[in-house]
Amino acid sequence: MSLAIGPGQRLEDSVSDGSSHPDSSLAGDLRRATGLNVAACYQCGKCSAGCPMAAEMPLKPHQMLRLAQLDLRDELLSDPSPWLCLTCETCTARCPNEVDPARLIDGLREIVFKSGSAVAPLRLRAFHKAFLRQIRRHGRVFEVGLIVDYKRRTGALFDDVLSAPAVFRRGKLALSPSNIEGRDEVRRIFEACGQAAARKEVHS
Ligand code: SF4
Ligand code: SF4
Repeated sequence: MSLAIGPGQRLEDSVSDGSSHPDSSLAGDLRRATGLNVAACYQCGKCSAGCPMAAEMPLKPHQMLRLAQLDLRDELLSDPSPWLCLTCETCTARCPNEVDPARLIDGLREIVFKSGSAVAPLRLRAFHKAFLRQIRRHGRVFEVGLIVDYKRRTGALFDDVLSAPAVFRRGKLALSPSNIEGRDEVRRIFEACGQAAARKEVHS
């Protein structure tokens, strides 16, 4: 699939039908989720050149944005690439046009969750949910809780089980969680985000 801009094609041609109706394209959904304009990306590739996960991603960051511009929703949202992003924000720091690819990629994950869609790979979605649950509960990751939650969600009960004794022996996994001091503040942030998302839903 070519990700180049065709002759005479404007980025805006892909993201808006020019009518007054709410933009139902993926770019429109991203704008509502993040407040950002994916059409501002001019495909220079600087984000992908600095991304520490680019080698593992079937779609590099600039390619994800190109698919969003072209409204190729299923191709993008069924790909594992958005879930491999570490949210390190290197791409955002490198972008010469302040596109904020890291926030846009996070917006893609939000869109998948909001739609209740099963297109994203189960294990990646399961890890994402289990990770956030740990942060909400403890303010940091409690690894054993994360593993149990992840296995419960995926059914992969015996994956990597043989490596567990060695990991415990080396003291790499604590048996009980340790909460950060500001755990209540973290919870309030989660609650505020949930309320903001609900308000956005009502007004959209
Ligand atoms: S935020 Fe994600 S896409 Fe951007 S550089 Fe980091 S890993 Fe790559
Ligand atoms: S660095 Fe910015 S403008 Fe360049 S491809 Fe990435 S997101 Fe687009």
